[in-house]
Amino acid sequence: MAIQFIDLKRQQEQLSEDIYNNIRKVLDHGQYIMGPEIKELEQKLGSYVGVKHAVACSSGTDALLMALMAYGVGQGDAIFTSPFTFISTAEVISLLGATPVFVDIDPDTFNIDPSMLHKAIQALECKSREYYPLPDGYEGLRPRGIIAVDLFGQPADYDSIVKSVETNDLFVIEDAAQSFGAEYKGRKTCSLADISATSFFPAKPLGCYGDAGMVFTDNEVLYDWLASIRVHGKGTYKYDNIRIGINGRCDTLQAAILLAKFKIFQEEIQEKQTIAQRYSLALKATPSLKTPHIQDGCLSAWAQYSIVSNRKDEIMISLKDAGIPTAVYYPKPLHLQDAFSYLGYNPGNFPVSEEIAGRIFSIPIHPYLTEEEQKYITDSILSAVQ
Ligand SMILES: *Cc1c(COP(=O)(O)O)cnc(C)c1O
Repeated sequence: MAIQFIDLKRQQEQLSEDIYNNIRKVLDHGQYIMGPEIKELEQKLGSYVGVKHAVACSSGTDALLMALMAYGVGQGDAIFTSPFTFISTAEVISLLGATPVFVDIDPDTFNIDPSMLHKAIQALECKSREYYPLPDGYEGLRPRGIIAVDLFGQPADYDSIVKSVETNDLFVIEDAAQSFGAEYKGRKTCSLADISATSFFPAKPLGCYGDAGMVFTDNEVLYDWLASIRVHGKGTYKYDNIRIGINGRCDTLQAAILLAKFKIFQEEIQEKQTIAQRYSLALKATPSLKTPHIQDGCLSAWAQYSIVSNRKDEIMISLKDAGIPTAVYYPKPLHLQDAFSYLGYNPGNFPVSEEIAGRIFSIPIHPYLTEEEQKYITDSILSAVQ
Protein backbone atom coordinates (compact mmCIF):
# COMPACT_ATOMS: atom_id res chain seq x y z
CA MET A 1 0.00 0.00 0.00
CA ALA A 2 1.65 3.25 -1.11
CA ILE A 3 -0.02 5.94 0.94
CA GLN A 4 0.77 9.51 -0.10
CA PHE A 5 0.40 12.48 2.23
CA ILE A 6 -1.49 14.28 -0.55
CA ASP A 7 -2.13 12.13 -3.63
CA LEU A 8 -1.96 14.39 -6.66
CA LYS A 9 -1.33 11.43 -9.00
CA ARG A 10 -4.63 9.73 -8.25
CA GLN A 11 -6.42 13.05 -8.62
CA GLN A 12 -4.74 13.63 -11.97
CA GLU A 13 -5.77 10.20 -13.25
CA GLN A 14 -9.37 11.17 -12.67
CA LEU A 15 -9.04 14.57 -14.34
CA SER A 16 -6.40 14.15 -17.01
CA GLU A 17 -8.69 14.69 -20.01
CA ASP A 18 -10.11 17.96 -18.70
CA ILE A 19 -6.69 19.18 -17.64
CA TYR A 20 -5.07 18.39 -21.00
CA ASN A 21 -7.96 20.00 -22.87
CA ASN A 22 -7.72 23.17 -20.81
CA ILE A 23 -3.95 23.37 -21.24
CA ARG A 24 -4.29 22.82 -24.98
CA LYS A 25 -6.79 25.70 -25.22
CA VAL A 26 -4.25 28.05 -23.68
CA LEU A 27 -1.51 26.84 -26.02
CA ASP A 28 -3.90 27.46 -28.93
CA HIS A 29 -4.92 31.02 -28.02
CA GLY A 30 -1.44 31.87 -26.73
CA GLN A 31 -2.49 34.49 -24.15
CA TYR A 32 -0.13 33.21 -21.47
CA ILE A 33 -0.37 36.41 -19.45
CA MET A 34 -3.84 37.49 -18.27
CA GLY A 35 -5.64 35.28 -20.78
CA PRO A 36 -9.43 34.74 -20.69
CA GLU A 37 -9.10 31.87 -18.17
CA ILE A 38 -8.09 34.39 -15.50
CA LYS A 39 -11.40 36.27 -15.60
CA GLU A 40 -13.32 33.01 -15.85
CA LEU A 41 -11.61 31.63 -12.74
CA GLU A 42 -12.12 34.89 -10.84
CA GLN A 43 -15.82 34.86 -11.66
CA LYS A 44 -16.30 31.18 -10.79
CA LEU A 45 -14.44 31.29 -7.48
CA GLY A 46 -15.81 34.71 -6.52
CA SER A 47 -19.36 33.48 -6.91
CA TYR A 48 -18.54 30.17 -5.18
CA VAL A 49 -17.39 31.98 -2.03
CA GLY A 50 -20.04 34.68 -2.37
CA VAL A 51 -17.81 37.73 -2.85
CA LYS A 52 -18.13 40.43 -5.52
CA HIS A 53 -14.49 40.76 -6.53
CA ALA A 54 -11.71 38.22 -6.95
CA VAL A 55 -8.17 38.96 -8.11
CA ALA A 56 -6.11 35.96 -9.24
CA CYS A 57 -2.46 36.38 -8.34
CA SER A 58 0.96 34.73 -8.20
CA SER A 59 0.81 32.97 -4.81
CA GLY A 60 -0.85 32.91 -1.42
CA THR A 61 2.05 34.93 -0.06
CA ASP A 62 1.56 37.62 -2.70
CA ALA A 63 -2.18 37.57 -2.04
CA LEU A 64 -1.47 38.50 1.60
CA LEU A 65 1.14 41.06 0.56
CA MET A 66 -1.26 42.71 -1.89
CA ALA A 67 -3.98 42.83 0.78
CA LEU A 68 -1.66 44.71 3.17
CA MET A 69 -0.47 46.99 0.35
CA ALA A 70 -4.08 47.85 -0.49
CA TYR A 71 -4.37 49.23 3.04
CA GLY A 72 -1.10 51.14 2.60
CA VAL A 73 0.49 49.24 5.50
CA GLY A 74 4.04 50.32 6.35
CA GLN A 75 6.44 51.45 9.05
CA GLY A 76 4.87 52.07 12.44
CA ASP A 77 1.87 49.85 11.77
CA ALA A 78 1.11 46.98 14.13
CA ILE A 79 -0.57 43.96 12.55
CA PHE A 80 -1.86 41.34 14.97
CA THR A 81 -1.53 37.71 13.93
CA SER A 82 -0.98 34.15 15.11
CA PRO A 83 2.50 32.79 15.85
CA PHE A 84 1.24 29.29 15.01
CA THR A 85 1.11 29.47 11.21
CA PHE A 86 3.24 29.26 8.08
CA ILE A 87 5.92 31.95 7.84
CA SER A 88 4.14 33.84 5.00
CA THR A 89 1.42 35.20 7.26
CA ALA A 90 3.88 37.31 9.27
CA GLU A 91 6.64 37.61 6.67
CA VAL A 92 4.58 39.94 4.48
CA ILE A 93 4.01 42.25 7.48
CA SER A 94 7.77 42.59 8.05
CA LEU A 95 8.46 42.91 4.34
CA LEU A 96 6.42 46.13 4.27
CA GLY A 97 8.28 47.53 7.29
CA ALA A 98 5.30 47.01 9.59
CA THR A 99 5.51 44.99 12.83
CA PRO A 100 3.87 41.63 13.53
CA VAL A 101 2.29 41.56 16.99
CA PHE A 102 1.72 37.94 17.89
CA VAL A 103 -1.35 36.72 19.74
CA ASP A 104 -1.64 33.24 21.20
CA ILE A 105 -4.00 30.59 19.86
CA ASP A 106 -7.00 28.71 21.15
CA PRO A 107 -5.84 25.26 22.36
CA ASP A 108 -8.73 23.45 20.65
CA THR A 109 -8.93 25.09 17.22
CA PHE A 110 -5.29 26.33 16.96
CA ASN A 111 -6.68 29.60 15.56
CA ILE A 112 -6.08 33.06 17.06
CA ASP A 113 -7.73 33.38 20.46
CA PRO A 114 -10.15 36.35 20.31
CA SER A 115 -9.88 37.06 24.05
CA MET A 116 -6.07 37.22 23.76
CA LEU A 117 -6.47 39.46 20.70
CA HIS A 118 -8.53 41.84 22.80
CA LYS A 119 -5.81 41.84 25.48
CA ALA A 120 -3.04 42.44 22.96
CA ILE A 121 -4.86 45.38 21.38
CA GLN A 122 -5.45 46.92 24.81
CA ALA A 123 -1.84 46.36 25.84
CA LEU A 124 -0.66 48.17 22.72
CA GLU A 125 -3.10 51.04 23.20
CA CYS A 126 -1.95 51.47 26.84
CA LYS A 127 1.68 50.99 25.78
CA SER A 128 2.00 48.39 28.50
CA ARG A 129 4.05 45.25 28.06
CA GLU A 130 2.98 44.20 31.56
CA TYR A 131 -0.42 43.31 30.26
CA TYR A 132 0.49 41.21 27.21
CA PRO A 133 3.79 40.29 25.45
CA LEU A 134 4.55 42.97 22.85
CA PRO A 135 7.44 43.24 20.37
CA ASP A 136 10.41 45.59 20.78
CA GLY A 137 9.56 49.06 19.56
CA TYR A 138 5.94 48.71 20.63
CA GLU A 139 5.93 52.26 22.06
CA GLY A 140 5.91 53.71 18.53
CA LEU A 141 3.34 51.35 17.01
CA ARG A 142 -0.15 52.15 15.82
CA PRO A 143 -2.68 49.26 15.72
CA ARG A 144 -3.85 48.92 12.12
CA GLY A 145 -5.25 45.49 11.46
CA ILE A 146 -5.25 41.78 11.98
CA ILE A 147 -4.48 38.76 9.85
CA ALA A 148 -6.49 35.79 11.11
CA VAL A 149 -5.47 32.36 9.84
CA ASP A 150 -7.90 29.51 9.11
CA LEU A 151 -5.44 26.88 10.27
CA PHE A 152 -5.60 23.34 8.87
CA GLY A 153 -8.78 24.35 7.00
CA GLN A 154 -10.95 25.45 9.91
CA PRO A 155 -12.14 29.09 9.85
CA ALA A 156 -11.02 31.35 12.69
CA ASP A 157 -13.77 32.73 14.94
CA TYR A 158 -14.57 35.83 12.87
CA ASP A 159 -17.63 36.96 14.84
CA SER A 160 -15.54 37.23 18.00
CA ILE A 161 -12.58 38.72 16.12
CA VAL A 162 -14.77 41.45 14.65
CA LYS A 163 -16.13 42.18 18.15
CA SER A 164 -12.57 42.51 19.47
CA VAL A 165 -11.52 44.98 16.78
CA GLU A 166 -14.62 47.04 15.96
CA THR A 167 -14.12 49.68 18.65
CA ASN A 168 -10.55 50.18 17.42
CA ASP A 169 -11.46 50.43 13.75
CA LEU A 170 -8.91 47.80 12.66
CA PHE A 171 -9.15 45.98 9.34
CA VAL A 172 -9.41 42.19 9.24
CA ILE A 173 -7.62 40.08 6.63
CA GLU A 174 -8.43 36.38 6.34
CA ASP A 175 -5.50 34.08 5.56
CA ALA A 176 -7.54 31.36 3.91
CA ALA A 177 -4.55 29.65 2.28
CA GLN A 178 -5.54 26.37 3.96
CA SER A 179 -9.31 26.80 4.06
CA PHE A 180 -10.68 27.29 0.55
CA GLY A 181 -14.02 25.44 0.49
CA ALA A 182 -14.58 25.60 4.27
CA GLU A 183 -17.60 27.20 5.95
CA TYR A 184 -18.30 29.41 8.95
CA LYS A 185 -21.92 29.76 10.11
CA GLY A 186 -23.32 29.22 6.63
CA ARG A 187 -20.77 31.43 4.88
CA LYS A 188 -17.83 30.23 2.80
CA THR A 189 -14.25 31.09 3.74
CA CYS A 190 -12.68 33.81 1.61
CA SER A 191 -15.78 35.89 2.40
CA LEU A 192 -15.26 36.26 6.15
CA ALA A 193 -13.14 39.43 6.36
CA ASP A 194 -12.56 42.79 4.64
CA ILE A 195 -10.05 41.09 2.35
CA SER A 196 -9.36 37.36 2.10
CA ALA A 197 -6.32 35.68 0.61
CA THR A 198 -5.97 32.10 -0.53
CA SER A 199 -3.28 29.91 -2.09
CA PHE A 200 -3.39 27.38 -4.91
CA PHE A 201 -0.02 25.82 -4.06
CA PRO A 202 -0.30 22.16 -5.20
CA ALA A 203 -0.85 20.71 -1.71
CA LYS A 204 -3.58 23.17 -0.66
CA PRO A 205 -7.27 22.15 -0.73
CA LEU A 206 -7.60 23.56 -4.28
CA GLY A 207 -4.15 23.30 -5.82
CA CYS A 208 -2.70 24.04 -9.26
CA TYR A 209 0.58 22.75 -10.76
CA GLY A 210 2.78 25.59 -9.60
CA ASP A 211 2.31 28.77 -7.59
CA ALA A 212 -0.86 30.84 -7.64
CA GLY A 213 -3.28 32.53 -5.27
CA MET A 214 -6.34 34.76 -5.10
CA VAL A 215 -7.52 37.81 -3.20
CA PHE A 216 -11.23 38.42 -2.49
CA THR A 217 -13.13 41.52 -1.38
CA ASP A 218 -16.59 43.07 -1.56
CA ASN A 219 -15.12 46.55 -1.34
CA GLU A 220 -14.96 48.40 -4.68
CA VAL A 221 -12.09 50.72 -3.70
CA LEU A 222 -9.94 47.92 -2.30
CA TYR A 223 -10.63 45.92 -5.44
CA ASP A 224 -9.34 48.73 -7.66
CA TRP A 225 -6.19 48.94 -5.56
CA LEU A 226 -5.65 45.16 -5.61
CA ALA A 227 -6.07 44.95 -9.38
CA SER A 228 -3.62 47.83 -9.84
CA ILE A 229 -1.05 46.52 -7.32
CA ARG A 230 -1.10 43.13 -9.10
CA VAL A 231 0.32 44.77 -12.24
CA HIS A 232 3.01 47.17 -11.00
CA GLY A 233 0.60 49.80 -9.70
CA LYS A 234 -1.04 50.19 -13.10
CA GLY A 235 -3.32 53.17 -13.80
CA THR A 236 -5.43 53.52 -16.93
CA TYR A 237 -3.00 51.70 -19.22
CA LYS A 238 0.10 49.51 -19.04
CA TYR A 239 2.70 52.29 -18.92
CA ASP A 240 0.73 54.52 -16.56
CA ASN A 241 1.98 53.70 -13.05
CA ILE A 242 0.10 55.45 -10.26
CA ARG A 243 1.42 53.59 -7.20
CA ILE A 244 4.07 51.06 -6.23
CA GLY A 245 2.92 47.56 -7.01
CA ILE A 246 4.37 44.14 -7.77
CA ASN A 247 4.41 41.59 -10.57
CA GLY A 248 1.65 39.61 -8.91
CA ARG A 249 -0.15 38.02 -11.85
CA CYS A 250 -1.39 34.44 -12.01
CA ASP A 251 -0.27 32.45 -15.09
CA THR A 252 -3.08 31.70 -17.54
CA LEU A 253 -1.95 28.04 -17.60
CA GLN A 254 -2.45 27.73 -13.84
CA ALA A 255 -5.92 29.26 -14.11
CA ALA A 256 -6.76 26.74 -16.85
CA ILE A 257 -5.63 23.86 -14.62
CA LEU A 258 -7.63 25.23 -11.68
CA LEU A 259 -10.76 25.48 -13.83
CA ALA A 260 -10.50 21.75 -14.55
CA LYS A 261 -9.85 20.87 -10.91
CA PHE A 262 -12.61 23.12 -9.60
CA LYS A 263 -15.23 20.94 -11.34
CA ILE A 264 -14.75 18.16 -8.81
CA PHE A 265 -13.67 20.32 -5.88
CA GLN A 266 -16.97 20.23 -3.98
CA GLU A 267 -17.03 16.41 -4.15
CA GLU A 268 -13.47 16.32 -2.86
CA ILE A 269 -14.39 18.50 0.12
CA GLN A 270 -17.35 16.19 0.83
CA GLU A 271 -15.17 13.11 0.63
CA LYS A 272 -12.73 14.60 3.12
CA GLN A 273 -15.59 15.21 5.59
CA THR A 274 -16.35 11.48 5.48
CA ILE A 275 -12.71 10.54 5.99
CA ALA A 276 -12.26 12.99 8.88
CA GLN A 277 -15.38 11.59 10.56
CA ARG A 278 -14.06 8.05 10.21
CA TYR A 279 -10.68 9.05 11.64
CA SER A 280 -12.24 10.82 14.61
CA LEU A 281 -14.65 7.99 15.30
CA ALA A 282 -11.79 5.49 15.38
CA LEU A 283 -9.40 7.63 17.45
CA LYS A 284 -11.31 9.96 19.72
CA ALA A 285 -11.91 7.52 22.59
CA THR A 286 -8.15 6.97 23.07
CA PRO A 287 -6.99 9.17 25.97
CA SER A 288 -3.48 9.76 24.60
CA LEU A 289 -4.85 11.18 21.33
CA LYS A 290 -6.58 14.52 20.95
CA THR A 291 -8.47 14.56 17.65
CA PRO A 292 -9.42 17.82 15.84
CA HIS A 293 -12.14 19.96 17.39
CA ILE A 294 -14.38 21.63 14.83
CA GLN A 295 -16.42 24.55 16.21
CA ASP A 296 -20.21 24.48 15.99
CA GLY A 297 -21.41 25.81 12.66
CA CYS A 298 -18.05 25.26 10.98
CA LEU A 299 -16.96 22.96 8.21
CA SER A 300 -13.24 22.38 7.70
CA ALA A 301 -11.58 22.11 4.30
CA TRP A 302 -9.29 19.53 5.97
CA ALA A 303 -6.01 20.85 4.62
CA GLN A 304 -4.60 18.79 7.51
CA TYR A 305 -5.95 16.28 9.98
CA SER A 306 -3.83 17.03 13.03
CA ILE A 307 -3.60 15.07 16.26
CA VAL A 308 -2.14 16.31 19.55
CA SER A 309 -0.41 13.68 21.66
CA ASN A 310 2.29 13.37 24.31
CA ARG A 311 3.37 10.28 22.42
CA LYS A 312 3.79 12.07 19.09
CA ASP A 313 7.37 10.90 18.44
CA GLU A 314 6.76 7.18 18.97
CA ILE A 315 3.53 7.32 16.93
CA MET A 316 5.31 9.03 14.04
CA ILE A 317 8.08 6.41 14.07
CA SER A 318 5.57 3.54 14.09
CA LEU A 319 3.65 5.09 11.22
CA LYS A 320 6.82 5.57 9.22
CA ASP A 321 7.62 1.86 9.70
CA ALA A 322 4.10 1.06 8.50
CA GLY A 323 4.65 3.12 5.33
CA ILE A 324 2.39 5.96 6.41
CA PRO A 325 3.78 9.48 5.90
CA THR A 326 3.21 12.11 8.61
CA ALA A 327 4.23 15.76 9.00
CA VAL A 328 4.53 18.34 11.76
CA TYR A 329 2.82 21.70 11.20
CA TYR A 330 4.42 23.65 12.82
CA PRO A 331 7.39 22.53 14.94
CA LYS A 332 8.55 26.08 15.81
CA PRO A 333 6.16 28.99 16.41
CA LEU A 334 7.05 32.16 14.52
CA HIS A 335 8.02 34.22 17.59
CA LEU A 336 10.88 31.74 18.16
CA GLN A 337 12.13 31.75 14.56
CA ASP A 338 15.48 33.44 13.88
CA ALA A 339 13.83 35.56 11.19
CA PHE A 340 11.74 37.25 13.88
CA SER A 341 14.37 37.42 16.63
CA TYR A 342 14.54 41.21 16.01
CA LEU A 343 11.07 41.45 17.56
CA GLY A 344 12.56 40.44 20.91
CA TYR A 345 10.04 37.79 21.88
CA ASN A 346 11.05 35.01 24.29
CA PRO A 347 10.17 31.38 24.94
CA GLY A 348 7.15 31.34 27.21
CA ASN A 349 5.51 34.38 25.60
CA PHE A 350 2.85 32.29 23.85
CA PRO A 351 2.51 29.14 25.95
CA VAL A 352 -0.36 27.54 24.03
CA SER A 353 1.41 27.80 20.66
CA GLU A 354 4.63 26.47 22.16
CA GLU A 355 2.93 23.58 23.87
CA ILE A 356 0.95 22.55 20.78
CA ALA A 357 4.03 22.88 18.54
CA GLY A 358 5.76 20.21 20.62
CA ARG A 359 2.91 17.70 20.56
CA ILE A 360 1.13 18.00 17.20
CA PHE A 361 1.43 15.89 14.05
CA SER A 362 -0.65 15.44 10.91
CA ILE A 363 -1.68 12.26 9.11
CA PRO A 364 -2.59 11.83 5.43
CA ILE A 365 -5.99 13.20 4.45
CA HIS A 366 -6.96 13.50 0.78
CA PRO A 367 -10.04 12.46 -1.18
CA TYR A 368 -8.32 9.51 -2.87
CA LEU A 369 -7.58 7.44 0.24
CA THR A 370 -9.48 4.17 0.02
CA GLU A 371 -11.55 3.07 2.98
CA GLU A 372 -9.04 0.26 3.48
CA GLU A 373 -6.16 2.74 3.62
CA GLN A 374 -8.06 4.91 6.08
CA LYS A 375 -8.59 1.93 8.36
CA TYR A 376 -4.95 0.91 8.01
CA ILE A 377 -3.92 4.41 9.13
CA THR A 378 -6.16 4.49 12.22
CA ASP A 379 -5.32 0.87 13.13
CA SER A 380 -1.62 1.71 12.89
CA ILE A 381 -2.03 4.71 15.19
CA LEU A 382 -4.02 2.69 17.71
CA SER A 383 -1.47 -0.11 17.77
CA ALA A 384 1.32 2.45 18.27
CA VAL A 385 -0.28 3.77 21.47
CA GLN A 386 -1.43 0.38 22.77
C1 LIG B 1 0.59 28.05 2.16
C2 LIG B 1 0.29 29.17 3.06
C3 LIG B 1 0.55 30.50 2.70
C4 LIG B 1 1.33 30.89 1.47
O1 LIG B 1 0.86 30.42 0.27
P1 LIG B 1 1.87 30.25 -0.97
O2 LIG B 1 0.95 30.07 -2.12
O3 LIG B 1 2.73 29.08 -0.69
O4 LIG B 1 2.65 31.52 -1.09
C5 LIG B 1 0.15 31.51 3.56
N1 LIG B 1 -0.46 31.23 4.72
C6 LIG B 1 -0.71 29.98 5.12
C7 LIG B 1 -1.41 29.75 6.41
C8 LIG B 1 -0.33 28.90 4.32
O5 LIG B 1 -0.56 27.65 4.72
